[in-house]
Amino acid sequence: MALGNYYEATRRVELETQPLDGDISVDVAIIGGGITGVSAALHLAERGFSVALLEAEHIGWGASGRNGGQALPGFGASQAKIKSLVGAADSKKLWDMSVEAVDLLHGQIQRFGIPCDPVIGYLHAAVKPRQVRELRETQEELVELGAPPGELLEGEALQAKLCSPRYLAALTDNIAGHIHPLNYTLGLAKAAMAAGAKLYSQTRVTQVVPGKSVAVHTARGVVKAAFLLVSGGAYLGGLMKPLAGYIMPVGTYIIATEPRADVAAMIPGNEAVADLNFVLDYFRRSADDRMLFGGRVSYSTLPPPSLKDSMLKRAQRVFPQLRDARVEFLWGGNVDISVNRAPHFGRLADNILFTQGFSGHGVALTGLAGKVAAEAIAGQAGRFDVFAKIPHSRFPGGRAFRVPALLAATTYFRLRDLL
Ligand SMILES: Cc1cc2nc3c(=O)[nH]c(=O)nc-3n(C[C@H](O)[C@H](O)[C@H](O)COP(=O)(O)OP(=O)(O)OC[C@H]3O[C@@H](n4cnc5c(N)ncnc54)[C@H](O)[C@@H]3O)c2cc1C
Repeated sequence: MALGNYYEATRRVELETQPLDGDISVDVAIIGGGITGVSAALHLAERGFSVALLEAEHIGWGASGRNGGQALPGFGASQAKIKSLVGAADSKKLWDMSVEAVDLLHGQIQRFGIPCDPVIGYLHAAVKPRQVRELRETQEELVELGAPPGELLEGEALQAKLCSPRYLAALTDNIAGHIHPLNYTLGLAKAAMAAGAKLYSQTRVTQVVPGKSVAVHTARGVVKAAFLLVSGGAYLGGLMKPLAGYIMPVGTYIIATEPRADVAAMIPGNEAVADLNFVLDYFRRSADDRMLFGGRVSYSTLPPPSLKDSMLKRAQRVFPQLRDARVEFLWGGNVDISVNRAPHFGRLADNILFTQGFSGHGVALTGLAGKVAAEAIAGQAGRFDVFAKIPHSRFPGGRAFRVPALLAATTYFRLRDLL
């Protein structure tokens, strides 16, 4: 794969963190230095808790520093699916919290002056007639939820916004938008540290021993904590056995072209765009006028062969204008897919909380996840528990069979993408 992560090459926030060295005691330990973990650390420290966040690599190393940067309300599952899982009242509460998540993200960017190029504006694009009908249904759903229904663009109005031959229609969305996700994560981490949280990098948690005081083991020290938040996302592996079967790590990839004078004309309003396919294309302009184009999936999490060429071909199918484009960056990361694509929050013990299952839809929601987890630890669990009520099942057949089971399910959706 090589070439590397564009966000790492354009990081603008410097962070001084060290590995944990020795035993410590804190009110709250957090596993994972993604947006969930650093947001929880910030909100807990602001509430006066002592916090130790433990990150196996460096802050933002996981999905939070690799993603498409598309910050949306809603969930990996459709709102209709969420309603079928929890009923109308909780579905509305969840929707409202997902909108709050986007507001929270922009609020934090402003409050801490995080240099992460925030842009508001989004296009949900339809590739086939069935998807145009889905966009109309989405508008009805949004009206039901009390949200702005957006505008359905077709023909010339669509071409003016998205200069591509590929789409039949697109629905505008003035809540969603995009950011530089690594700089956002690092900026939030810096704010958490300024508020008093201790963030440890190169500190992999190797064992968790539950109890009134949870013992969180690492190679060079044990953290004793009254509470533990587990937010290792798709990278947690088998550390917390009861959680592993509920999510499936799936690889997804992004390319960045060279900066180009013609990129602005391809998406003149600078919206982020994603299509409605199951294996979707998602793309946007970068602040330095590159095309950042994401897509493909790998159920083994191993990069598919000829990835650079196949990603560029996908981008050229959307924008033939990119026929002479050069790929300067190529990278990927893992998303934590749950069976129903809804977020999976809950408790493994009274004092061990977890968040996972963002299912490729976590840029905004993870910030709120950290906030509601902090609320729950502070004794106000109401909002966390609305999430925790969403029912989840394990991928059938245990770890060894998760891939075949997911492949069987996704083959159906891939075929559906062709119709
Ligand atoms: C390529 C890609 C594109 C995406 N695009 C979008 C998008 O455009 N919009 C959107 O909304 N979502 C997108 N997502 C999803 C989004 O990035 C995630 O939902 C979100 O970043 C998850 O944040 P997190 O804090 O839960 O986990 P992460 O950011 O993955 O952080 C988890 C951290 O935990 C650490 N960790 C794991 N195990 C241990 C351990 N034992 N000890 C210590 N640390 C540990 C890991 O090293 C990692 O840094 C995308 C994801 C990927 C990979």
